[in-house]
Amino acid sequence: MAYLTLKDINKIYPNGYHAVHNFNLEIDKGEFIVFVGPSGCGKSTTLRMIAGLEDISNGEFLIDGKRANELGPREREVAMVFQSYALYPQMTVFDNIAFGLTLQGVDEEVIEEKVKKTAAILGLTDYLDRLPRALSGGQRQRVAIGRAIIRKVGVFLMDEPLSNLDAKQRVTMRSEIAQIHRETGATTIYVTHDQTEAMTLADRIVVMKDGYVQQIGTPYELYHDPVNVFVAGFIGEPPMNFIRGTVKGGKIPFGDNILDVAARLGAKAGQYEDREIVFGFRPEAISLGDQDNACHLKAQVELTEMLGDNTNVYITAGEDKAILKVDPHDTPDIDSEITFSIPFADVYLFDGETERVIEKVPVQSR
Ligand code: ADP
Repeated sequence: MAYLTLKDINKIYPNGYHAVHNFNLEIDKGEFIVFVGPSGCGKSTTLRMIAGLEDISNGEFLIDGKRANELGPREREVAMVFQSYALYPQMTVFDNIAFGLTLQGVDEEVIEEKVKKTAAILGLTDYLDRLPRALSGGQRQRVAIGRAIIRKVGVFLMDEPLSNLDAKQRVTMRSEIAQIHRETGATTIYVTHDQTEAMTLADRIVVMKDGYVQQIGTPYELYHDPVNVFVAGFIGEPPMNFIRGTVKGGKIPFGDNILDVAARLGAKAGQYEDREIVFGFRPEAISLGDQDNACHLKAQVELTEMLGDNTNVYITAGEDKAILKVDPHDTPDIDSEITFSIPFADVYLFDGETERVIEKVPVQSR
């Protein structure tokens, strides 16, 4: 197990493209870190710089406190699992898992013992004689993981390892990866564009956009205290609702409704008068009907989606739209008018220009 330090890491590709800007992060021994963000935001590039597969253009990368920029992939003692599992098709599961050790000339008996132990962790004991083509996608991915974890390495890197699996297999493999991490205790960095994977697996998540780190925090922190509109919209499903408006008299419109933002802005209310702000609320934060200490809104129901444990309700108010999550027993009729409440405490306000969150002021009962 190793701890890692990334100090002002930058990547400028030979064609001049600046893919990663000033990436800073300390990763503890045994921590499970997830890099998440939309395609092209620089996640894989950062992971590949950590793996030693891509040069670091600027900045310093340390393993256990020692500079590692110049070390090759093998010297860094990292193992990597890619999204294409790249198994050797003509080799059995046993030989695929053993491959790295065989290359190193490790004693056969030692190899046998290690492969069996690894296969047991991954539930592959009964498949060791099979060829990859006789395995399901999930099993193949497990072999690829086995090949990586059989070597004693300090750091385990995974680049979208579940993206070739179907939805059901992804959920199963996700919990298996969490289990493997608990058993091996290896420092792990995992890249995905899927916020659910990030939320369920990570000790800490790094949210990236356009080559810049947006926020680093636990899943709880990112959900409850997003620093900007991007993180607020990226974490959570369905995403947070946003209503943009210019503040007039401490209020912004949402269709025919008036959202009183002055209470939330507190002392900053004057400063935001005539300026654009973004009013955010999570679909699951609302309750139907009029509640105390809340914004009260009326809207038309455009569509409902029954999901079993809850219903997504798509609403419109004039030109504005939002999604609400309600108890399935409360599913409203399509085209009906509903009233709902957003507790003041669950309202997020962002600066319309910088898109950064405006610090919350404690809400007074009224
Ligand atoms: P992600 O993993 O978040 O999808 P990547 O790290 O793969 O993103 O890519 C980040 C950006 O760098 C993208 O815009 C991509 O097109 C660009 N990029 C990746 N590899 C190269 C390369 N070899 N040369 C130039 N640009 C690259």
